[in-house]
Amino acid sequence: MSNRTRALELARSTVAPLFIDGEWRQPSHDALGGADEIETIDPATGAVITTLAAGSATDVHDAVAAARRAATSWSRATPAARARLLRALAALVEADAAELAAVDTLDNGKPLALTTAVDLPQAVAHLRHQATVAETRTAERIVDAGGAAAAEVYREPVGVVGLITPWNYPLLMVVRALAPALAAGNTVVVKPSELTPISALLLAGLAARAGFPPGVVNVVTGTGEQAGQALASDPRVDLITFTGGRATARRIAAVTEARTLFELGGKAPFVVFDDADLDAAALAATAGAFGNQGQNCMAATRILVHDAVADEFAKRFAEATAAFTVGDGFDRGTRCGPLVSEAHRSTVAGYVDRAVAAGASVLTGGESTGYSRFSPTVLAGVDRGAEAWNEEIFGPVAVLDRFVTDAEGLALANSTRYGLAASVWTADADRGREAAAALQAGVVWVNCYSKFDAAIPFSPRGASGSGTVGGHWGYEGYTALKSVWTPRPADGLRAGAA
Ligand code: NAD
Repeated sequence: MSNRTRALELARSTVAPLFIDGEWRQPSHDALGGADEIETIDPATGAVITTLAAGSATDVHDAVAAARRAATSWSRATPAARARLLRALAALVEADAAELAAVDTLDNGKPLALTTAVDLPQAVAHLRHQATVAETRTAERIVDAGGAAAAEVYREPVGVVGLITPWNYPLLMVVRALAPALAAGNTVVVKPSELTPISALLLAGLAARAGFPPGVVNVVTGTGEQAGQALASDPRVDLITFTGGRATARRIAAVTEARTLFELGGKAPFVVFDDADLDAAALAATAGAFGNQGQNCMAATRILVHDAVADEFAKRFAEATAAFTVGDGFDRGTRCGPLVSEAHRSTVAGYVDRAVAAGASVLTGGESTGYSRFSPTVLAGVDRGAEAWNEEIFGPVAVLDRFVTDAEGLALANSTRYGLAASVWTADADRGREAAAALQAGVVWVNCYSKFDAAIPFSPRGASGSGTVGGHWGYEGYTALKSVWTPRPADGLRAGAA
């Protein structure tokens, strides 16, 4: 049986579109939002994978109520108990990794090699790492010894966390937020992207098998307009973790009273100095810009090259890009699968068409090559005020530009509202360190790209958001501090007691 057929069978075996209070449920049809259907599509073929009834506002309210009911006892579970369940879930995800990877490739289009080598191992690593963080951080308690009153500082769970996640790493984006939320003692309601909801449902089944009590993990599939807005606006939700676009973040901020952790977009600079290893830089730029079809918040989309090596770099980068095989994500050798949808292909192609109409040149790519397919594209001569230079395209499109001095290159790199990731290439360690200090981004890769670890923070700045992922820093975002003050006994009393 082929990987696609196996993934299709598994996707169609999902019991129901809602997992609430430890039970699989069908959405309620009600006056609060009705029950539309979600057709989830295989972007490689356009075929319907499965049709799910979409969760309504009532379903979201039920899920939040279940999470609320479970919150107190889960918050009192010992750190060791939480860690044990997170590790049990990690083991189940690891055991099913091949199937889960195939489901995300089917639903999203991304190459199976990527889901297998990146999405699944990282998801497992986040679960295991946050289990360790739970054991070492949850019991934090600091006692202030000075003054007439003493303060004890506790770190507590926030309560109920709503997770609203995107489609670009369907399972990983859920797990990246779910792991620290659960580790810190919160209960969760997950609203996965309606374009790629299947692996989140499979995860809910695994969480139940791992032994998470009913109500601790709930999943409501549905549209952003209905289920997403209902989750964001529910006053019983204490924290919303949202990973997605800026426009959606604004809509969520407008309706929520909860604390928010936003993981938004990027327009990452990739700076190549004149002493860089051009072959290594060109290869890394190709992977950085076009890996996951460029549908990465940290995609290297502004390639800024020192004037002295710009022509040579452009040649090597265009050659490496042209060799980046476009195809079905299930085919061995495919480096660039279909984009997540035909509609998204059209959006990406629109950016390229408008840039070309305004005078940009296409060094390679720029073609729609079939349903949802767009070839990796390098644009040169893009005006620095133009949308293609400034906006996140979220597809396989990179803009190439040049600079003369290091200061100019770094200023160009920083001329963006985003601040997620950046990369610099140089043979000189001091030049690399100075550039890393100057670059306004939460992650800087020197002579490398796309390095991640569940223990290392990935922390956005500016328009890229506010939520840190990874390590105990990520965990702390899911906690609240409480200071408890009590008067000290008067000196006389203390002296008397002594
Ligand atoms: P999106 O904003 O369209 O959707 C994300 C989620 O929000 C989906 O679940 C969607 O249903 C929901 N949603 C949509 N409208 C909503 C509303 N009005 N109220 C509540 N929820 C709503 O984003 P996308 O297209 O799925 O993902 C792409 C974006 O995500 C890009 O901007 C990318 O950079 C960003 N992203 C960021 C990171 C990061 O770590 N910073 C990681 C991955 C993706």
